[in-house]
Amino acid sequence: MRAWPRRVKALPPAPTAFLDRDGVLNWNRAGAYVTRPEQIRLYAAAAPALRLMAAKGYRLVVLTNQSGVARGYITLAQALAINMKLLRDLRLKGAAVDAVYFCPHGPGEKCACRKPEPGLIEEANKDIPADMERSFMAGDKKSDLALARRAGIKGHLVLTGHWRSAGPAAAAKGYGSLLALARSLPDYKRKTI
Ligand SMILES: [Mg+2]
Ligand SMILES: [Zn+2]
Repeated sequence: MRAWPRRVKALPPAPTAFLDRDGVLNWNRAGAYVTRPEQIRLYAAAAPALRLMAAKGYRLVVLTNQSGVARGYITLAQALAINMKLLRDLRLKGAAVDAVYFCPHGPGEKCACRKPEPGLIEEANKDIPADMERSFMAGDKKSDLALARRAGIKGHLVLTGHWRSAGPAAAAKGYGSLLALARSLPDYKRKTI
């Protein structure tokens, strides 16, 4: 479901950076869920990475599984408040996220939106269509890559959060930080002569 914005306006398809939240934009809490807004702690590189992506012509759309709702750890209202805190912290650092979608269901519910199911991308595309050829998904779990595969877009693993422990092996495969990813992306706003 869409957590933000309240309403969307019709826009033409654009390159879109689909971004996982926990472990990519903000620190994971070791062995625990983010249950309160004040527990959101941005990675230092998150805002610079998002600013660079936006400058290169990408829309920024956050896609996050929040099964803490289904598990009863947080209410829907708390989940929304946590997302708003994330957006506010990013905005204070000059990074404007375009939309946030999340799955509030649990693993046993067989919903269509829990990553790696592609439902969140399908929902986002109905609101603010992505130019799928020029879009990608970045996350810290293999389920984020699986989502990218199912949606038919590029997937990038970032070496923070869940994947940090696998750093050396993943780095050898060319994976890096969110900021390194942002630097490596094509610039769709660059003037062509
Ligand atoms: Mg994650
Ligand atoms: Zn779901």
